[in-house]
Amino acid sequence: MEQPQDSPAINPLGLTFTNRFTRDLPADTNNENLRREVSGACFSRVQPAATSGPRLVAYSHEVAEMLGITDEQAASKEFVQMFSGNLVTGDMDPFAMCYGGHQFGNWAGQLGDGRAIALGEVATPNDGHLTLQLKGSGPTPYSRRGDGLAVMRSSVREFLCSEAMFHLGVPTTRALSLTLTGDMVMRDMFYDGNPGDELGAIVCRVAPSFLRFGNYQLFPSRGEIDELKTLVDWTIRTDFAHLAQGDGEQNLAVVTAWFEEVVRTTAEMVVQWMRVGFVHGVMNTDNMSILGLTIDYGPYGWLEGFDPDWTPNTTDAGGRRYRYGNQPSIAHWNLVQLANAIAPLFDDDIEPLQAALDTYPNEFGSGWNAMMAERLGFLGFAGDADNELFGELGRVLQLIETDMTIFHRNLALVDAENADDLDDADLVRPIADAWYVDPTPSVEAEMATWLRTWADRVTVDKRTAIERQLAMHAVNPKYVLRNWMAQLAIDRVDNGDFAGVSELLELLRNPYDDQPEHEAAFFTKRPEWARERAGCSMLSCSS
Ligand code: AMP
Ligand code: MG
Repeated sequence: MEQPQDSPAINPLGLTFTNRFTRDLPADTNNENLRREVSGACFSRVQPAATSGPRLVAYSHEVAEMLGITDEQAASKEFVQMFSGNLVTGDMDPFAMCYGGHQFGNWAGQLGDGRAIALGEVATPNDGHLTLQLKGSGPTPYSRRGDGLAVMRSSVREFLCSEAMFHLGVPTTRALSLTLTGDMVMRDMFYDGNPGDELGAIVCRVAPSFLRFGNYQLFPSRGEIDELKTLVDWTIRTDFAHLAQGDGEQNLAVVTAWFEEVVRTTAEMVVQWMRVGFVHGVMNTDNMSILGLTIDYGPYGWLEGFDPDWTPNTTDAGGRRYRYGNQPSIAHWNLVQLANAIAPLFDDDIEPLQAALDTYPNEFGSGWNAMMAERLGFLGFAGDADNELFGELGRVLQLIETDMTIFHRNLALVDAENADDLDDADLVRPIADAWYVDPTPSVEAEMATWLRTWADRVTVDKRTAIERQLAMHAVNPKYVLRNWMAQLAIDRVDNGDFAGVSELLELLRNPYDDQPEHEAAFFTKRPEWARERAGCSMLSCSS
């Protein structure tokens, strides 16, 4: 597609566009922006739609800094124009990616970037290559029945959650900016025949690559093995350069090492989700990053009351496929689909792929054990007895509704050294805030019993109580993006008040710090109003 005649050759923010993806990989030869099947190509060139009155709601200082954008530049007119899709310069090469995927366990064929348009890829001063992608920037050949747009509520959620996850230490795509477009977007939030106009918005997402398992799945589903090979070789040369041999075709040992790394990073990502209580909500294979990053923040949610069966996604309410406790096995299932996709590169000898897949339970299990041991304040995982303690904790946390974040944060305050001398009520006092209802005497007794076993275990490691507390607080966040917190910021944007988004971003930049001034508002259980409110406990895929 042609750029507008009067667009400048060079972007005004001084970014260095390198555009390796579009430079090196096969492009769609049809440049019309019409919805269709696109074969033999990794992407289609497409221009972002113009927006009528873009306004910056918030931006991330750290992401701007990675890109070499100053705070002064971020406050400029050019910034808001560029990241709302109105200013496309000659050094960019905007495109939408072509990919497929399994949705809710079924092969869905071609999906693709239906409402994401990358402006291109830039070389950064210290952080390698990063792709800048506008989510909600209008239709692409992959928009199917959608409009290519995004609404404010889901964009606030994506913007805040990507940054919150980063500061929690969870691998994730990042978010540079959140803008309102000035245009309205029609949505039927609960697919119940009650559509309404909502504010349109665009998030500029940032990642080394937005490649998904589904990019590798689509080619073999169409018998396009040469294209699959081209994409795999390119991925290894660019994003897995530490594995690559030479500039050309990679041998099967390298491809195997690459797949092993994807298995490992995927397992690590899910371990981190489980630690912070994050439920992705739509772990379709088109939403699984090849870099093991959390990607595509849609109807995600955070566990408040600990419940392994919980999912925020009403679209998945029937089967609860993507519930919190199922995420580790779904990641494994998704890796099997990726292995199937790249199997044609191995001719008939898929043994190395199978061996790599078989490492998943161990990768996940050892990551989980180490993570749980750290959370509970142990110096390291010590075997079966520790596993028993973890399992018993899972049971006790479900006896009555118990806030997961408050429990783990306050566990560090339980007096382990004197656990045997305290009565039940005194022993459990630091974690009583985590209970949504008053415990019965038997619940209190079961919790106290667990705490005494924990205390025996934790005091085996010769650390002072203060050392242990500091270590536990470094892995048990005090502040996560509780579903209702995002909703409060969304309500304020709806009323023209953008400050709530930046305030939450600021809070979530330091999730492990005490920040006593925010305790009353945000280190607290879900308020009653949020229990059944749309956007808080229930989210659909509509966004
Ligand atoms: P998701 O599960 O939200 O990641 O989206 C699944 C597929 O639907 C992807 O191919 C998206 O690009 C596409 N999609 C979602 N919403 C829209 C929309 N409003 N317009 C066009 N495509 C969309
Ligand atoms: Mg997606």
